[in-house]
Amino acid sequence: MKWPSTALRFLPLLLAACGEGAPPPREFDGPSAFRYLEQQVAFGYRIPGSTGHAAQAAWLDSLLRERADTLVVQRWRHVTQKGDSLALSNFIARFNPAATERVLFLAHWDTRPISDNPRYNGPRTPVPGANDGASGTAVLLGIADVLKKAPARVGVDLLFVDGEDYGNFELAKNDVLIGSRYYAQHQLPGSRPLYAVLFDMVGDKDLKLLPENQSLLAAPEVVDLVWRVAKEAGHAAVFVDSPGAGPTLIDDHAELQKVGIRAIDVVDFKYPDGTQNLYWHTPADTLDKVSAQSLQVVGDVALALIRRH
Ligand SMILES: [Zn+2]
Repeated sequence: MKWPSTALRFLPLLLAACGEGAPPPREFDGPSAFRYLEQQVAFGYRIPGSTGHAAQAAWLDSLLRERADTLVVQRWRHVTQKGDSLALSNFIARFNPAATERVLFLAHWDTRPISDNPRYNGPRTPVPGANDGASGTAVLLGIADVLKKAPARVGVDLLFVDGEDYGNFELAKNDVLIGSRYYAQHQLPGSRPLYAVLFDMVGDKDLKLLPENQSLLAAPEVVDLVWRVAKEAGHAAVFVDSPGAGPTLIDDHAELQKVGIRAIDVVDFKYPDGTQNLYWHTPADTLDKVSAQSLQVVGDVALALIRRH
């Protein structure tokens, strides 16, 4: 075995780089967030009414109860356009609950019952939701781990919404974004945030986040802040500052915007040709499409937003 001589030569340089001016140690743990993503996929489909949904609800409840200062669970029944009655739950993990200055991060934890991507012609089976559902939830859980160990000065609410992806976005508008609409109408006293960031489909291996247009329209200063903080954290290659190039989406942020919350959507929504991803709302939204590295980048930026205060 031969010791590589180049490594020795560069050793003093490496040591110098660890001294003054070095970036602070990384707080967010991408690999452990990825394990949270894998666990969710292992529960099976998280469709309201399914056993996977019930298993994930119990898991979120116990994880968050151990980590948050206060856990608020909103439970209610939603009657769909077809007349089905769904038992739904939002989880609100509150950190520093007495703080009047607060930020709100949210993600949906349910998954879609049918594959209905307009460019997909296969069986309309449920969506596994490795990216659409599990990725944003995994980032929020990773943040909860950090805040338990090293509390924030600002108040932080991590909101896990249910029933985002249940119904038809065109024909049954009350059967989508159900949890965020419920939250908007049942806000906790003193929980009004300075701003809110939705994390949706943030696990793609080839992650590219362009400002979403409804976010730019309703809360441009929050888009500016998030993309600036991402750039300062060295993630300008993922958080691409290209206003107007992004999608326009109906997503949970819209329900919060309706009640005056400055909410934006951080989302990767593209095809390989640059317009939309091909496995979205198909059976191919699986583990091989997502990575710990992407969760790491998004988690780093979310933590940097918290640590500004
Ligand atoms: Zn979806």
